[in-house]
Formats: sequence, structure tokens, C-alpha cells
Amino acid sequence: MSRELCSVAGLRGQESALRAFAAALAVGVDGGPARVAGAYLLHGPEGVGRGMGAAGFATALLCANPRGLAPCGECKACGWNAAGTHPDLVGISAETGPFFKDDGEARRSGPGQFIRAYHDGQKIRARRRIPVRAVRRMLDVLSLSAAGGGRKVAVIDSLDEIEEEGVATLLKSLEEPPPSTTFLVLAGGVDRVPDTILSRCQRVRFRPLAPDVVRELLLRAAPTGDDELNDSAVELLVRLAQGSIGRALRAARIGLHHQAPLALRGLLGPAGPRGVDDACAWVHAAGRDLAEQRVRTRELLALTMLLARDRAATSGGASELDALLPALTAGFESVGANVSPDLVLHALWARVARARR
Ligand SMILES: [Zn+2]
Repeated sequence: MSRELCSVAGLRGQESALRAFAAALAVGVDGGPARVAGAYLLHGPEGVGRGMGAAGFATALLCANPRGLAPCGECKACGWNAAGTHPDLVGISAETGPFFKDDGEARRSGPGQFIRAYHDGQKIRARRRIPVRAVRRMLDVLSLSAAGGGRKVAVIDSLDEIEEEGVATLLKSLEEPPPSTTFLVLAGGVDRVPDTILSRCQRVRFRPLAPDVVRELLLRAAPTGDDELNDSAVELLVRLAQGSIGRALRAARIGLHHQAPLALRGLLGPAGPRGVDDACAWVHAAGRDLAEQRVRTRELLALTMLLARDRAATSGGASELDALLPALTAGFESVGANVSPDLVLHALWARVARARR
């Protein structure tokens, strides 16, 4: 029977993370068990393999007979992991939940239900905040003894998206971890991680991917015979990705590579308010999900920034870029502050128009 098991084998361009995982799983000099820490902080930009690294490392940690970093594929734990039902692998994710309506629903959900929600959770389009109730419920489930009799692994994706109170709750657990439990905590930059959490975790660093790696992964993910993803579209997506295959794929999914004319006309060109209306229309084509509209707005600003830089480089006219950069920076800040996409785009266009006069 062939099974798809999560493994770190597919991880590209993350050699130092692989070394850290291998060191954790290496058999001690005395032939004794591997020296696994209570918590690992997998830090680095989004979309470079932290999630895949955590899933593969968790599978190897739970396996009864891992061969180096590779799970054996034959033990009970590997069987559970292949089926996505391992009772001692729990997690919370800004992408899949579990998202509870309220504290009551969180309390009522049994351990099995909580674990299933994590394993079977549907990916949502834009990531959400993780409420403290989800953190508490995860810790309740972890306090039970391991169903498989061995280690328990908790994956937290990611610390940046947990409500403040949830981070404090998690910290208490890292200080006094449940027995035989390993936490795999994902985070962006370590500078945003509280020192109290840093001091409890072994750090595993993930780096931005080289452009060649992003290009290769992007082409592999694209459906074969996708004429739309021609060479220039791929190059545009690779440059926008800034080392994140997750970002390149998201940009491809929303069709950002088709929006260069829109960005040029709507925000950089002389088309005036009609141009910016077209840009708003594209953002609204995402549907009514505000988070998804913000993703489109942010990516459209990034595309505009890239095209403005290109134009300044070819024309040697840096003055237009000087006028645009503060306006675009203000636009990114407004998106981050949850200002409505229409307001962001109109304010940006107004600032650019003013600077031109
Ligand atoms: Zn195994």
C-alpha cells in the first residue's frame, strides 16, 4: 500500500533547518534515544517552508523507527500520520483552525473533535487571528496522556497570529510543559517574539528562497499546459515573491500577473480616477471577504512599487519614484491598519496626483 507521509524530504533551500532537525533526531553517542527539546521555534518569512518543515519534523518525531529524518512508513504512528488521524499530533493554525464560535463551543469539543478539526481543517483563503480559547483547548488536549504511549507534538502556526492573551497562556505551558511533549512554534522574525518565549525554544531558522528555487517550485505547481503562465509572467511572480513560494502561488492564484496594465494605468498612469476605479473593481472581484480584498490590495501595491522601480531604472527619472514611494508606503500602512481597500487606493491615487502637479 503506498501512502503519502509528510516528510522534510521535499523541503528546498533550508539546509540549516534540516541540520537542526537531524541533530534533534540523531541517536545519542551512548546509543540512547534522540535528544529532542521541549520546544522549537521555526522562524523565518511566511511561505518558505516552515509549515512543511514542522509537519515533516513532527512525523519523524512521532515515528518509532525514523531513518535519519525520514519516517519509516511502517510503524503505527506512521500509519496514523499517513491517514491524518494521529491522536498525539495536535495543532492550531491561522489557516485551518480549529476556529470555535465561542468559549462554550471550545469547551464542548472533545479531544477527538479538536484533533480532527486540525487534521481535516479546510484551508481558508486569508489567514485569521487565533483566539485564546483555541490555545486553551489545545493545551487541555495535550494534558491527556499520549494515546500512542510515546511523544506528543503540538504545531502552532503561527505565534504572530495568536491573540496576546493566548501567547501568555502558551508561555506558561512552555515553562512547565506537559510530559513528553514537543512544541513546534512557527513565527516570522525573532525580533517580534517575546524574550520569555525565545529563552524556552531552540531556534530553527528558515530563509527566503533563491529565485531559481521559487521559479522551479512555481512551474511545478502550475498546471501543465497553462499558457497564461508564460516566461514573463513567471519572472514577474518570482520577483514579487521575494523568496517566498507561498507568496508567488498566492499572487498566481489571484491572477496578479495579469494586472500589470491595470497597475500602470490605474495608479501610475494619467488615466485619472477611472483608472483607480478599475483597480478597485479588481479588488472587489475577490468577493465580499474583506481579508481577501486586503490581500489583493496589498499585492496590487507591491506590483505598483515593482513597476515604478522598473520605470525609474529604465528612464533614469528618479523624481517620480521619490513622489510615489511615500504614497505607496502610506498605502501599505493603511492596508495593515484595516482601512477599506477603496479608501487606500483612492488616497494613494490622490497623493500621486498631488505630487505630480
Ligand atoms: Zn514510522
